[in-house]
Amino acid sequence: MTAPDERADAIDHAGEATAPDPAAGFAGLGLRPEVLRALARLGYEEPTPIQAETIPLLVEGRDLLGQAATGTGKTAAFALPVLERIPADRARHQPLALVLVPTRELAIQVAEAVYRYGRDLGVEVLPVYGGQPIGHQLKVLRRGVDVVVATPGRAVDHIGRGTLPLDAVQVVVLDEADEMLDMGFAEDLEAILDATPTERQTVLFSATMPPRIDHLTRRHLRDPVRIRIAGPAADASATPLVRQRAHLVARAHKTAALARVLDVEAPTSALVFCRTRLEVDEVTEALKARGYRAEALHGGMDQPQRDRVMGRLRAGTADLLVATDVAARGLDVDSLTHVVNYDVPSAPESYVHRIGRVGRAGREGVAITLAEPREQRQLGNIERLTKQAITIEPVPSVEVLRARQQESTRTAIRERLDAGGLEQVRPVVDALADELELADIALAAIALLHEASGVVADEPHIPHVAPGKGKGKGGEARDRGRTGGRPEGRGAPAGPKSRGGRRSDDGASGETVTLWVSMGADEGVRPKDLVGAIANETRLNGRQIGPITITPGYSTVGVPSDAADEVIAAMTRSTIKGRRAKVRRDRHG
Ligand code: AMP
Repeated sequence: MTAPDERADAIDHAGEATAPDPAAGFAGLGLRPEVLRALARLGYEEPTPIQAETIPLLVEGRDLLGQAATGTGKTAAFALPVLERIPADRARHQPLALVLVPTRELAIQVAEAVYRYGRDLGVEVLPVYGGQPIGHQLKVLRRGVDVVVATPGRAVDHIGRGTLPLDAVQVVVLDEADEMLDMGFAEDLEAILDATPTERQTVLFSATMPPRIDHLTRRHLRDPVRIRIAGPAADASATPLVRQRAHLVARAHKTAALARVLDVEAPTSALVFCRTRLEVDEVTEALKARGYRAEALHGGMDQPQRDRVMGRLRAGTADLLVATDVAARGLDVDSLTHVVNYDVPSAPESYVHRIGRVGRAGREGVAITLAEPREQRQLGNIERLTKQAITIEPVPSVEVLRARQQESTRTAIRERLDAGGLEQVRPVVDALADELELADIALAAIALLHEASGVVADEPHIPHVAPGKGKGKGGEARDRGRTGGRPEGRGAPAGPKSRGGRRSDDGASGETVTLWVSMGADEGVRPKDLVGAIANETRLNGRQIGPITITPGYSTVGVPSDAADEVIAAMTRSTIKGRRAKVRRDRHG
């Protein structure tokens, strides 16, 4: 448990008054003070690699073609330069930036991010997506907005209706362009780009660069800078003694999952990495509330504060350090047994740095990463960079935790008996034995021991997330889109017609089951290969097929449940990329 003076100290650490500006790392990128203030408030300490590279170029007005996966910080990379363009003294709001994204969830997420970064500029942002009644969108558009974040189908609807004014648009961003193309939005994207002013700035982000992206780039981007966020070759031998694993967990259950993992692992001394200073404070408080002696360390703390924290860790009065990357730089603690990544780091190199803090001096270390479903692609990037496997395991269940706690209780009791010197407490047992069974006395004593050591009776349920689910940023959304409604509900059929792809206008009804296919990206499998293989051999059309996830070693594809057997039979008969794949119902699907 934390002594009261330590708790007061920690609260003091989080105070704003004496803290140096944590967003100082952004100051050199040419951003306005209102935005820098917002970043400081959010606890961003330094730009991620993609932000450092792209922001100055985008502020300059260059077109950009960026290859980056989710979790790299690319939203801020395009959103912050957009905010630079907002006139401080505007009389009315009119869209000066249009951000196109594949799914409704991503539209909401990006719109929220733009709002948070631009709050001090009074930015008006509207997410525009199918499935939501169009009336609300029309009302807000009439009132005036600065930034529109739209799914392509609904954007085309608005353009056809004349309700999305594009003449003042200075920037068009295509986020997750490969996903949009996979979803059959190619024609919509062309139509939207053709409808915006030719002198606009165009920014395209994509996790992969298939030839169709090239085509889009050649037609719509002007002399773009090309940026690829991939790590330098890592020294694979640098981390041989670190066992690495990841748990997939939804955002809402992350703190519970962190506590569960720590309870099961019972590390002697651990470092928990968070992305932002705010997260550091939240996680530290949550862990303290569970009885952990956790200390926060972030860039907002001055040197004496940092020294005090480190002193407590070295002296053993703290056993967990919660830190940002910046704050942990130069930190040298030999005794660390565990590194826990509360988020997947925004750059694979940070992962390598982080886990390099355990497994030193020949000792074995453990690195555990909590990944949201959409961050699985980032995990894959890290595996490729480090050439080491990160095994994905379920978050330990309550039963596993209980078994672990019982085991350590048994060990503790045996060791205590071996240590001897129990005569002092014998009178208590003797007195109780007159009226109670010895077993009952032992039960009560163990319950007291558990209570004192923070064993919680009602552990929260942490829902299981199957690997492959929600892979890539839009994945989770697409899963829901398939079973809960169309990913892109079309209103009046105005504007150019969209064709092809997996627009599930007619495929969303009924149950979807997930099939597992034994081939993946390593064999060159792309979503369209799976769609083609299925649509050519069965009665299904492209719109009834999906969501699709492609991992290096295997793929998964959703199909209507009443067609699953037909699809399995047909795919088993035919070939993909000249090879025969194994296909079966996904155990997790
Ligand atoms: P994105 O790749 O844009 O989805 O961003 C991934 C996550 O990183 C989001 O939760 C952001 O809030 C967070 N993030 C983005 N930039 C930074 C930064 N410079 N420092 C800390 N967190 C960041």
